[in-house]
Amino acid sequence: MQRDLFDEEHDLFREAVREFMAREVVPHHPQWEKDGIVPREVWKKAGELGMFGFSVPEEYGGSGVSDFRYNAVVVEEIIRHGASGLGFSLHNDVMAPYLVDLTDDGQRQRWLPGFVSGELITAIAMTEPGAGSDLQGIRTTAVREGDHYVLNGQKTFITNGVNADLVVVVAKTDPAAGARGITLIVVERGMEGFGRGRNLDKVGMKAQDTAELFFDDVRVPVANRLGPAEGEGFVQLMNNLPQERLSIAVAAVAAAETVLEQTIAYCKSRQAFGRTIGSFQNTRFVLAELATETEIARHYVDKCVRALNARELTAVDAAKAKWWTTELQTKVIDRCLQLHGGYGYMTEYPVAKAWLDSRVQTIYGGTTEIMKEIIGRSFGF
Ligand SMILES: Cc1cc2nc3c(=O)[nH]c(=O)nc-3n(C[C@H](O)[C@H](O)[C@H](O)COP(=O)(O)OP(=O)(O)OC[C@H]3O[C@@H](n4cnc5c(N)ncnc54)[C@H](O)[C@@H]3O)c2cc1C
Repeated sequence: MQRDLFDEEHDLFREAVREFMAREVVPHHPQWEKDGIVPREVWKKAGELGMFGFSVPEEYGGSGVSDFRYNAVVVEEIIRHGASGLGFSLHNDVMAPYLVDLTDDGQRQRWLPGFVSGELITAIAMTEPGAGSDLQGIRTTAVREGDHYVLNGQKTFITNGVNADLVVVVAKTDPAAGARGITLIVVERGMEGFGRGRNLDKVGMKAQDTAELFFDDVRVPVANRLGPAEGEGFVQLMNNLPQERLSIAVAAVAAAETVLEQTIAYCKSRQAFGRTIGSFQNTRFVLAELATETEIARHYVDKCVRALNARELTAVDAAKAKWWTTELQTKVIDRCLQLHGGYGYMTEYPVAKAWLDSRVQTIYGGTTEIMKEIIGRSFGF
């Protein structure tokens, strides 16, 4: 079925992003995987091309266009080019709503121009060694002292954790108040007491920096709090998580489509028993099933993108998209790897890299089990 999500301007933008990927990313990505990080310069080059902060108002350097289809184009092209080291979707899809919608004018002036140009790389620090799914179980505290908060605690698994200049930290300002005692506070590079731990060694996404962060009596001005009052952090997170989950779902479907295309081409050329492996009924049936499920997923996700643009995407819609498409992604890639035989296990084949990169998709942004909890709760049990 024809995809009808995009207009001509999105297609033109996609062409520019493709060119950027081919020129600035693909030739260097293997080296970045060895380095465990992407150089900051590539962020600036992407910023020059206008790849960040579509929804940022023009007065702060953005385009002022709240159209998630542009975000989707960037995510899809990153996936199609195997550029899993670029933490752009975290910056663009996850962080933009925090920095655009929850900031005051002073914060916008300080942060948004750099956000758009790629000079300020962002991250969000929710997860701690002792609390991931159970966000209310975090222990990081922010104690008010005059015009500052004094921040203490530890975070882990933070995407862009090494490169980040601005980190939105989820902290407890009132530990006795449960969800109502959580506040979002922006910690900036160079603040005294803000330390970074190891760049964590992951199964896949080898070029993406994922780090531990430490906060030891970090004095953060109250002017760095997101929102007009303390205690709003949990609600702010819940409001923004659907967009984060949709971004992950967009990536999941793009990955399934990409690997399917590659596998179909492989099955046309690889020979066994004097015929192409695509001529075996099993191969055709496996590919037929995977192609059907992927196309169905594609249409649900595209509908979610339209719903998000219309501000109608619910937490339940996004949870459904997230768990189902990421589980599908891991299944599609695993079966496609099988169809590659031994070559599928060799890292020089894109399917092997996709297999390693994809495994985390059912975990971060809220696990499959937590997504099912969100959906299950909506039945009113
Ligand atoms: C590569 C990577 C990047 C990440 N990036 C970020 C980031 O940028 N910022 C950030 O804050 N975090 C980030 N995370 C953290 C990620 O969001 C968490 O790992 C995830 O939410 C799960 O939390 P956890 O690891 O503590 O697992 P746990 O919460 O300990 O869960 C362990 C298992 O128990 C299950 N479980 C937990 N609670 C329930 C329940 N109520 N019912 C049923 N099953 C349950 C889970 O589904 C899971 O299978 C990242 C993680 C990875 C691996």
